[in-house]
Amino acid sequence: MSQILKEYLNTQLTELKDNGLYNEIDVVDGANGPVITIDGQKLINLSSNNYLGLATDEDLKQAAKDAVDSHGVGAGAVRTINGTLDLHKELEDVLAEFKGTEAVIAFTSGFNANQGAIPAIMKKGDAILSDALNHASIIDGCRLSGAKIIRVNHSDMEDLRQKAKEATESGEYNKVMFITDGVFSMDGDVALLPEIMEIAKEYDLITYVDDAHGSGVMGKGAGTVKHFGLEKEVDMQMGTLSKAIGVVGGYVAGSQELIDYLKVAGRPFLFSTALTPADTKAITEAVRKLMASTELHDKLWENGDYLKAGLKDLGFDIGHSETPITPVIIGEEKLTQEFSKRLKEEGVYAKSIVFPTVPRGTGRVRNMPTAAHTKEMLDDALKIYEKVGKELGII
Ligand code: PMP
Repeated sequence: MSQILKEYLNTQLTELKDNGLYNEIDVVDGANGPVITIDGQKLINLSSNNYLGLATDEDLKQAAKDAVDSHGVGAGAVRTINGTLDLHKELEDVLAEFKGTEAVIAFTSGFNANQGAIPAIMKKGDAILSDALNHASIIDGCRLSGAKIIRVNHSDMEDLRQKAKEATESGEYNKVMFITDGVFSMDGDVALLPEIMEIAKEYDLITYVDDAHGSGVMGKGAGTVKHFGLEKEVDMQMGTLSKAIGVVGGYVAGSQELIDYLKVAGRPFLFSTALTPADTKAITEAVRKLMASTELHDKLWENGDYLKAGLKDLGFDIGHSETPITPVIIGEEKLTQEFSKRLKEEGVYAKSIVFPTVPRGTGRVRNMPTAAHTKEMLDDALKIYEKVGKELGII
């Protein structure tokens, strides 16, 4: 190994470990369901984004197996060469119907969708107004674009209005975009889309909503934009197929001309091999399931409400989530990590989230109940929360 690389890696790893920022990655033995096994220990899993339990759904598994039989295991090429299979077209058509937009482009991940779609539209000479709590993949997509990035205080409509006015009236920029998560995954709050769209109309902002945590969860499953009935107004709806949809992949939904353009200008679409047949067919099956019934969506919300009520009754601070995402806010970083560690020892897998992911002093243990959890599992988790909370003097 190069001596310079060796020294660089040693310095980086030591620094991360010394600052408590080095994350040991747990290995899950078997499927990622509501109960998981790590190092032989069974744990109630409150840490996955598998909101609807679809990652292990029998119909999705069968769809994936059928696609392997009919189409093999790989797409064979990037989409624009000869990797666009009939299965990709079917998926994009079904997704467009579900999202209520003219068209959809699928990417191999949500991260890729943001790396592809933002720089395809926004360039040097443009400005992007970006909510302060936006996801890392949005931040990276904005940086890649070369546009000027202007941070807007989280969900602060006065700040957005002021900055939209300044950016558009300065005459400095060719175009101005506002970009936001639909559901913010650290607190479970929802973007104020009706107010945002009013400001966007006033200043002719391009609007981009990353609905990674809203797809399958909000709007009876169709997402945050549909929840507010704004699917004809928001310019670009981005989402992931890896969380509630249970598989992998990402997409952008919008007008036909937007999607036509992204198919020739979205670099991860142009230069990265397409989703596999198995993934594609399983995703299509998931979307059809959500279009046919809201049963899984309803169960997710019922479980979310149940867990929230239970934690609140025990005396925990659960913040102001408007979705099933349930943070238990502890505050101090070391105590948050200790709390999560003790929960795991007792049988609950809920990860601690501390600075720099969230502001200093707002450490939390984040819970993601899913449609696949039973009441018994949630009751068991609440008992463990009570025991550990009392032991550490949090409640
Ligand atoms: N956007 C947001 C808001 C996310 O939370 C995530 C996933 N952590 C992504 C994009 C990336 O999605 P994917 O995991 O499909 O790459």
